[in-house]
Amino acid sequence: MKGAVKGESGGGRSARADAWRQDGQLKLRDTPMIFMYHGVADVADDPNQLCVSSGRFAEQMAWLARRGLRGVGIAALVDAMRAGRQRGLVGLTFDDGYTNVLETALPVLRRHGFGATAYIISDRLGGTNEWDEGPTWRLMTGDQVRELAAAGIEIGSHAATHVRLAGASPAQLTAEVSESRASLNALLGTEIRGFAYPYGSMDAEARRAVRDAGYEYACAVEASLPEIGLMALPRLYVGQQDDAMRMAAKRLLYRSRIALRSRPGGRPPQATPAETR
Ligand SMILES: [Zn+2]
Repeated sequence: MKGAVKGESGGGRSARADAWRQDGQLKLRDTPMIFMYHGVADVADDPNQLCVSSGRFAEQMAWLARRGLRGVGIAALVDAMRAGRQRGLVGLTFDDGYTNVLETALPVLRRHGFGATAYIISDRLGGTNEWDEGPTWRLMTGDQVRELAAAGIEIGSHAATHVRLAGASPAQLTAEVSESRASLNALLGTEIRGFAYPYGSMDAEARRAVRDAGYEYACAVEASLPEIGLMALPRLYVGQQDDAMRMAAKRLLYRSRIALRSRPGGRPPQATPAETR
């Protein structure tokens, strides 16, 4: 087990001192494993592969626990990395803020004592995922987001309306990045630390806007090696088809995939629609 966990963090404490470069970038070996989920629900029609069933999610969390790995929110993961204590930690994230995260995912997380981060779209509280073509699911209300936060789940921003931020105008970046943080700060009475780019869409200006708005970190989806850092933490799509064998393969191949996609013209294998949501 010891050897198996080692791959997660890329080494012991001695390797941690230089995990963060001065510019906030990360080396490949220090890039943490972060799972990206959207909804946890038993749905028949899910063409965008946004949901994992309650049973599959429970299986995936049990898989982590069996390996001595612990699911945590990303602010906690970032703090652990700063302290050189990220070994055995896996970041768990839920984008968009579906009500089923509160209803279905939270009880499973609690059973294992796991943390997670939910990224909320600040102007769509109580709405639906109307930006998607396909089935619609309810998004948490402000009260439900507060309930999730009170249960120990980190709340981050997933922008104000769920638009692509690569190529966005300065005014759009202010509205989506900075103002969404202000409204979530007000909703929760606390300082929001994290951001997740809608569709994983970002560029240098978007990353700068996120930093300038006061966020400590941001989650991307795919990010190339030069981009990887506090303002672009790559994440691994985990879906309904990911049983124990596929989870093991994903874990083994995680860093190779990042390296592969960082080559000129490189594309990761197994891309699925939900990877860019
Ligand atoms: Zn999203």
